[in-house]
Amino acid sequence: MSTAETPAAPVRKRPVEYEVTVTEVRMETHDTGTLFLDFGSAPVEYKAGQFINIDPHQFPALRALAAFLQEQKGRRELFRSYSMSSAPHEPLVAITVKDEEFLPGLTKYPPLLAPYLLHGRLPGARIKVQGFMGPYTLPDDVQERTDHLVHIVAGSGGVPNFSILKDALHRGLKLRHTVLCSNKTWADMLFREELEKLEAANPGTVKVLHTLTRETEESRFGPNVRKGRIGQALLEELIPDRQTCLVYACGPAISPWDRRKALETRTPATPRFMEAVLGHLHTLGVDDKRIKRETYG
Ligand SMILES: Cc1cc2nc3c(=O)[nH]c(=O)nc-3n(C[C@H](O)[C@H](O)[C@H](O)COP(=O)(O)OP(=O)(O)OC[C@H]3O[C@@H](n4cnc5c(N)ncnc54)[C@H](O)[C@@H]3O)c2cc1C
Repeated sequence: MSTAETPAAPVRKRPVEYEVTVTEVRMETHDTGTLFLDFGSAPVEYKAGQFINIDPHQFPALRALAAFLQEQKGRRELFRSYSMSSAPHEPLVAITVKDEEFLPGLTKYPPLLAPYLLHGRLPGARIKVQGFMGPYTLPDDVQERTDHLVHIVAGSGGVPNFSILKDALHRGLKLRHTVLCSNKTWADMLFREELEKLEAANPGTVKVLHTLTRETEESRFGPNVRKGRIGQALLEELIPDRQTCLVYACGPAISPWDRRKALETRTPATPRFMEAVLGHLHTLGVDDKRIKRETYG
């Protein structure tokens, strides 16, 4: 029962399993590609920023690797989640996947699903996905809460924010968008051209800025590209309205494995993108309630 004092919890829809056709795999950068998924006649209802799950066990080509990894890790391999890079008004659902590598001495196990999604010659294949999930979405009353969305993303963390940005613009929401993307190099910049087009088509509404950590001469890329990590000074410059903005931050954070290793070696886990960004935002006085976050590697 709900009363005026205790509002009803939002109704959460159970994820539904769909069998979809992969129509195309399009490489966006040297290591990241978009899979376009055709849901046929199934009703597709999702919010920008949500994700789908994919069970790696459905692919016969991955059975031996999954069994090996399960033996090594002592637990069943889990579903992998992928945010939609498409927006709900677009005709095909799309997910954008970053390839994963096995780096001897650095990574503990070979990756399971991402390389297969990108290189397993899936166009034309029917695959099973579960959707749609995740609270990394705009609240219905977003325009009452803010007039400025600040997107702070790293690497493939740009995927759900790209969907949110396209959706907000398509719906004509009265919001300004500052999009701040952190990458290693120019070649790693995801959706660079699409973001440029959105910025050009929406002057005064969309502002895009990139930071690159591993380029030496970033000035040759123009005024919208800065050197280094997303630091406090940059956030201070870009977010004058720190009491009223809403921040959507997505990217890598300290993983459970980092924490386990830190415990074993008795050395604190090194803060990653998310911990660093949250630290800066808190120091600048952005209330935690104004920061929505999603983390993945
Ligand atoms: C909500 C959400 C949304 C996401 N959206 C996206 C997206 O849009 N695009 C995208 O590319 N990814 C996204 N991800 C990440 C994605 O779900 C996968 O984690 C990613 O693709 C890697 O999966 P994999 O099977 O290829 O690699 P995994 O098998 O998961 O391995 C990845 C890395 O983790 C290491 N590892 C795995 N298990 C262990 C262990 N037990 N101990 C130590 N190290 C270990 C491996 O050595 C490897 O380096 C999202 C994740 C979440 C939670």
